[in-house]
Amino acid sequence: MRVTSLSDLPLRDNLVGLQPYGAPQDPVPVSLNVNENTHPIPDDVVADIVASLAAAVRGVNRYPDREFTELREALAGYLGHGLKADQLWAANGSNEVLQQILQAFGGPGRSLLSFTPTYSMYPLLASGTDTAWIPVARPADYALTTDGVVAALREHQPDIAILCGPNNPTGTPLEREVILAAYDAFDGILIVDEAYQEFDAERESAVVLLPGRPRLLVSRTMSKAFSFAGVRLGYLAADAAVVDALRLVRLPYHLSALTQAAATAAIRHSETMLAAVSDIRSQRDRLAAALTELGFEVHPSGANFLLVGGFTNPGATFSALRAQGILIRDLGIDGHLRITAGTEAETTILIDAITALGPGGAR
Ligand SMILES: *Cc1c(COP(=O)(O)O)cnc(C)c1O
Repeated sequence: MRVTSLSDLPLRDNLVGLQPYGAPQDPVPVSLNVNENTHPIPDDVVADIVASLAAAVRGVNRYPDREFTELREALAGYLGHGLKADQLWAANGSNEVLQQILQAFGGPGRSLLSFTPTYSMYPLLASGTDTAWIPVARPADYALTTDGVVAALREHQPDIAILCGPNNPTGTPLEREVILAAYDAFDGILIVDEAYQEFDAERESAVVLLPGRPRLLVSRTMSKAFSFAGVRLGYLAADAAVVDALRLVRLPYHLSALTQAAATAAIRHSETMLAAVSDIRSQRDRLAAALTELGFEVHPSGANFLLVGGFTNPGATFSALRAQGILIRDLGIDGHLRITAGTEAETTILIDAITALGPGGAR
């Protein structure tokens, strides 16, 4: 029997009343709610990853390489643009990378600014590290402008700012001039969260802006385009001094030998691993066209998901689809739902189901 509830415990003040991150994890046939890559990893790549894991298991009596040198070299090679291994860092998901950044550069008396609606983990990571969170609302079309971003950064002078591009949950691409203006507008750490960068074929990664900008940090992940969410591998490209700062807060041996082996093997096959990206983009565009045709408002997206407005009752549509084994995301944005782009078959099922609900979705 449970004898204690959360409210009986001497919890830190800034955690009182918070809810843990909690996207539903239902084993449904069509799962399009957390922007995973629903395309499976090709069999030959699976075989090579398994062989690498088998070799790594023989060494797990020892602690893993604390500096995960081979993986960092592989990540540097994957990103290109002359990046060196000492500019790369990785952790168990980019969430852990972001947490380490907040541990090193945030904390009590310091602040983190981001432009909402944006990734729901930012405020949770802020409170977990006792960093004040400053939300600044995006314009109605969700697109950041240099003037708006510069004004917010000058006014609040945060210690850390995060620009999410493409932005989750709106899909909005992030323009290079906004990043450049933001960097010059304040003295703090500027993080560009590029979790969805590979899906935004029209724009180059912000890693090209790193030379001469030691306060610019580009966060990436293998969770989305690489179909690797279950492995937990996020990474960062930045000045080598930033990497030294993160070494001060990381737990020793934070990346297991198995994680390092699996990720290094997957990067060897990056071309095959990323082959699904163009299909996902075309399913996204097909879904956008179909929903527009049905009268919904589809926001421009550079990611593997769409934010869709025009639902009379988003909660009712969410429930109606869930009852049919289709899971999408209700983020509490008025009239809106977020939908991950899946395989061709999943997209067809979803379009048919929403079409059957009629104009505006379920009531
Ligand atoms: C999915 C996502 C991440 C990735 O998190 P991981 O911990 O790497 O799985 C990071 N940022 C944003 C905005 C995301 O949507």
